[in-house]
Amino acid sequence: MKIAFIGLGNMGAPMAANLAKAGHEVTGFDVAGASAEGVGTAASGPEAATGAEVVITMLPNGAILRSVAAEVIPAMSPGAVLLDCSTVDVESARAVAQQAEEAGLGALDAPVSGGIGGAAGGTLTFMVGGSEEAFAKAKPLFDVMGQKAVHCGPSGNGQAAKICNNMILGVTMIATCEAFALADKLGLSREAMFDVVSTSSGYSWSMNAYCPAPGVGPQSPADNGYQPGFAAELMLKDLGLSQQAAAAADADTPMGHRALELYRSFVEDEGGKGRDFSAMLPRFEERGRS
Ligand code: NAD
Repeated sequence: MKIAFIGLGNMGAPMAANLAKAGHEVTGFDVAGASAEGVGTAASGPEAATGAEVVITMLPNGAILRSVAAEVIPAMSPGAVLLDCSTVDVESARAVAQQAEEAGLGALDAPVSGGIGGAAGGTLTFMVGGSEEAFAKAKPLFDVMGQKAVHCGPSGNGQAAKICNNMILGVTMIATCEAFALADKLGLSREAMFDVVSTSSGYSWSMNAYCPAPGVGPQSPADNGYQPGFAAELMLKDLGLSQQAAAAADADTPMGHRALELYRSFVEDEGGKGRDFSAMLPRFEERGRS
């Protein structure tokens, strides 16, 4: 397939390289001049998009997605698909999809989970919003870049699934970390805490698969000095998107709101920027009640 790939950053570059490695003809563009292995370089987004059957975007946020989409949609061929894999607000995803569809294009929002390791290994999970037809067209590309693609419904639903999942993740990680810090103060060993909770009703992905306590449970960023992993500032971004969506939809999300506040303090005032999001555990450890 002839593919344009716009946004060759930490995630986009390995995703584009995997598509090229699988035999697709990929032309890339990044405003910072980044490139990817096996991927041709265009001088602009519209140049990359011209003649492409699928235009993939992997960009920092909704405002940038909107401006890139406004530029590339007029350059795309009728019937081509605009496939956005960035994590952005639901509203921007829906606005861009509508614009693409009005121009006779297919449109999908397909944010990912799996991080940089998943992007490099081709093992991402895609959460996809958009038409059946566009999903079917992009499916072979999801199969190269990832291990699973879930079609979640119409445009915007991929982003909705992603931010709901990550709101649960942020909240459960905080709950797991504060419980470990409490257990420490109560004299319970971390090993005992893990052994009990990971097989009891407090279990979760945060405890069982990504345990925030070093030396306990499976290998995780905690065992590597809390190097990300999934950086705290990316969790902050996703929690912000979840609260933006909750405000727009009049949904009551008190735990998501509190998780946003805690990650905001952690990233902005408590040295959490650049650390894994599970480094909330040493944060709680250092604190008392006041
Ligand atoms: P990144 O900042 O490394 O990459 C974004 C790239 O977009 C940069 O190279 C930047 O130069 C480029 N860009 C910005 N404006 C542009 C424009 N107008 N035209 C062309 N290129 C432009 O970010 P990333 O880590 O690759 O993340 C990309 C997206 O994936 C984000 O939405 C992020 O939330 C999401 N995401 C990231 C991770 C992760 O672990 N890094 C995991 C899941 C989802």
